[in-house]
Amino acid sequence: MYRTHQNSDLTINHLDNHVILSGWVQKVRNKGFIIWVDLRDRYGITQLVFDEERTPKDVFDKANSLNREFVIKVEGKVIERESKNLQIPTGEIEVLVENFEILNESKLPPFTIETETDGGDELRMKYRYLDIRREPVKDKLIFRSQVSMAVRNYLSERNFVEVETPYLIKSTPEGARDFIVPSRMNKGQFYALPQSPQTFKQLLMVGGLERYFQIVKCFRDEDLRADRQPEFTQIDCEMSFVNLEDILQTFEGLTKHLIQTTHNIEIEDFPRMTFDDAMKTYGNDKPDIRFGMKFGELNDVAKHKNFKIFDEAELVVGIAIPGCASYSRKEIDKLINWVKRPQVGAKGMVYVKCNEDGSFKSSVDKFYTQEDLQSWAEKTGAKPGDLIAVLSGDTNSTRAQLSALRMEMAERLGLRKSNEFAPLWVVDFPLLEWDEDTQRYHAMHHPFTSPKAEDEALLETSPGEVRANAYDLVLNGNEIGGGSIRIHDKTMQSRMLELLGFSKEEAQNQFGFLMNAFEYGAPPHGGIAFGLDRLVAILGGQETIRDFIAFPKNNMGRDVMIDAPATLDEEQLKELSLKLDIEE
Ligand code: ASP
Repeated sequence: MYRTHQNSDLTINHLDNHVILSGWVQKVRNKGFIIWVDLRDRYGITQLVFDEERTPKDVFDKANSLNREFVIKVEGKVIERESKNLQIPTGEIEVLVENFEILNESKLPPFTIETETDGGDELRMKYRYLDIRREPVKDKLIFRSQVSMAVRNYLSERNFVEVETPYLIKSTPEGARDFIVPSRMNKGQFYALPQSPQTFKQLLMVGGLERYFQIVKCFRDEDLRADRQPEFTQIDCEMSFVNLEDILQTFEGLTKHLIQTTHNIEIEDFPRMTFDDAMKTYGNDKPDIRFGMKFGELNDVAKHKNFKIFDEAELVVGIAIPGCASYSRKEIDKLINWVKRPQVGAKGMVYVKCNEDGSFKSSVDKFYTQEDLQSWAEKTGAKPGDLIAVLSGDTNSTRAQLSALRMEMAERLGLRKSNEFAPLWVVDFPLLEWDEDTQRYHAMHHPFTSPKAEDEALLETSPGEVRANAYDLVLNGNEIGGGSIRIHDKTMQSRMLELLGFSKEEAQNQFGFLMNAFEYGAPPHGGIAFGLDRLVAILGGQETIRDFIAFPKNNMGRDVMIDAPATLDEEQLKELSLKLDIEE
């Protein structure tokens, strides 16, 4: 028997019990005549004591060889501690060891296996299995498992069937690059790893399952932006005989349930915002609405006052930054430099200090009267004590720049609280996006998304204006889910592919299987996919997803522990009929 109790179990109620415990040696304090050992397992820590007088001599002598991370099994008696630690559940007792066995020795670990560790990122990733022994990492993996379980329970109770779809497939057109797997048996041919199970879940609807979900790995070979993983997990869902409202209700319910289970917080019905409004009000299609600082468009009141920069701009837009009128010249200059950084890209920034006495002091006092500035304050909702920051230029980039400033200031002012949850639906996305580089339309969501019925006629005249039956679920400034009501009609699907620039032949080649399926009574259907890694991180009150993934890749897409990707030997390449052509 390895254990009668876990290392979190024993309390003052167990005094004099004879117990067996197993685990890792976290710490050894050797005073010569007495040795204390912190014994750790997944559940907690129990203090062991070996004592020259009370422990049998051979056992005491052997205890001198114990070192960090040795795996041991001990037998002994629960006794009361002299100096108690009330921070941990077992802090009032210790186990006086009568006998123990070393189950395995350990090299000295390269970093300390404690909550606060001295190990840097790279080192911890290389020895991830040791990192996972640390409480904060272990707890995040357990938390993730609890969230996944809550998802499974919620959906299963509502008749969703979990179905596994294949990983070795043909390209899915979701806009990113596919990871490719060469086929040995079919020389010169390749599988692609799915960017999502999109077409399969639609085929399951044709297959009559009506409600599907899967917690599934997806793969996208993108240049890695910060905190993205080449393989990530989705909660992928699809439903038949539903309209947009049914889907929003179902998955709003799931999201509420998850916030409720993890934080015991009841969330009101989620607000809904059109894509256009989100862009206009927050400069962003995934607005963080935990705080205000809504955009105030100033074209009406700021143009035609002889200030050339604004006169020439397509958009003049500002936000009121709460309480920052007290900024010094130096602090404002710093802010101006911040918006001018290449990552943000603004050319400059006009500011207005809203003084407590109701007057205004701006960087453009030469051009604007107090009344003018008063109207800026009204449009941006600025109160006395606020600082209005105004950017100008072409609409899209100005909005993006001001959105970056809004988020930055919210961060600095502590307005992005990790224990607050502000979800919303963003709806009415454009169906298509014009791509200057390729000179053609791209599907903003994916090619299977249906246009809004009332916009269908526009497909022939101005496709760029057609809105989609697509929605994103946004939580605290992150897109945590997105989906659409699909096209289920073959003619409409062909028309869509044509608009996206596929020839009849290409369409047949790539999506023939789906369009054939649509000829056999495809039901109306729609769905959504949540990014599980991000969702879990936000629910866990963190910004980064890495610690919620057991074995994450670094930002070069490498697993530094197993050292992947790696080269293949000649034999393997030959078997796959692959020839490398790489310049050294
Ligand atoms: N397959 C889509 C995605 O991965 C989600 C969906 O439309 O259901 O974004």
